[in-house]
Amino acid sequence: MGFIMSDESRLSAIHKKVEAGVRLSFEDGMALEEHADLFTLGELANKVRERKNGRFAYYNINTHLNPTNVCVYRCTFCAFRADLKSPKGYLMSDEQILHRAEEADRRGATELHIVGGLHHLMPYEWYLNVVRIIHEAYPRLHLKAYTPVEWDWFEQLTKRPVRDIFEEFIDAGLGSLPGGGAEIFHPEVRDKICEHKADADNWMRIHREAHKLGLRSNATMLYGHIEKPMHRIDHLIRLRTLQDETGGFQTFIPLAFHPDNTNLNHIKKASGITDLRVMAISRLMLDNFQHIKAYWVMLGLQTAQLALSFGADDIDGTVVHELIYHDAGSDSPQELSVAGLRRLIEEAGRVPIERDTLYHEVVRAPGTTWKAGRSLQLQMV
Ligand code: SF4
Repeated sequence: MGFIMSDESRLSAIHKKVEAGVRLSFEDGMALEEHADLFTLGELANKVRERKNGRFAYYNINTHLNPTNVCVYRCTFCAFRADLKSPKGYLMSDEQILHRAEEADRRGATELHIVGGLHHLMPYEWYLNVVRIIHEAYPRLHLKAYTPVEWDWFEQLTKRPVRDIFEEFIDAGLGSLPGGGAEIFHPEVRDKICEHKADADNWMRIHREAHKLGLRSNATMLYGHIEKPMHRIDHLIRLRTLQDETGGFQTFIPLAFHPDNTNLNHIKKASGITDLRVMAISRLMLDNFQHIKAYWVMLGLQTAQLALSFGADDIDGTVVHELIYHDAGSDSPQELSVAGLRRLIEEAGRVPIERDTLYHEVVRAPGTTWKAGRSLQLQMV
């Protein structure tokens, strides 16, 4: 274990900063990217992870709902989208949407994760209706819905400010925002992979407005495509800056790019080593994020399990009906049982805790009945 390159003194200074809980700079982040070996990163990230979350590893029981894959945009990394007239395109009916929600509720899910394409023909009211009908029928389900790309689209459709739109959605049953659509903020990359959709400033603005209204949200970073280390560090620092301002982010999720069936299919998928390095550096740079998630659907089960010792404290949920990354070639299972998820966490030497979307411990009676228990934020060390 140790430093693999010449900049030993810089890494030694970083070591001391991490020990003392001092914030790392952009230059520190670059030094970690360029000079720290995997085990040094793991040791440092694990220190922060255990300081913030002890030995706990969180999971939830959720279901994904992607109401349509038809999308006006053409992000180069996206294998999920379809053109309006493509045979691959679909648009779920209200009955199909309610069937998915009923299935989730019956199986004891606490959350529905709702994201999708921006359909050329569907009006704003259709997206609002998705949230409303589910909430009316299954009020126990927490609805974590729509990324800033979608909220920005709703602004374009309605010519109304996002604050108004959020208020209408909160009335309809919106619970929080997922972290997607962030990709890589730096324009050198963003302009090449998704130039038309909401840019970095808009992504930030929309999360800021959500946080002001008391909505909590997550944040992501899509890595392993055309970005360079400096773009990743820049991305993390932008998120950290907004978190300083609002405190509204719960969890950061690094997302590994899956190239199959995308316009970037000449790029090789990131290795497990890269996945663990990005996880650890994210934990070290995001000192004001409580949680870092190893999203097993993207990472695969083995890497996700290892990530619990490289900075991650959350492993996402049982995730029924995931489409976006499976369309892009993810070969992880579509679904993982609760027992399987808990075993995976315990094997990694962690203590599994089922959480709800807002990080309350979930207390279950026999069957699928559940209620939100104590706030897990109180367990921060
Ligand atoms: S990533 Fe989202 S916005 Fe981009 S093409 Fe895919 S579905 Fe559309």
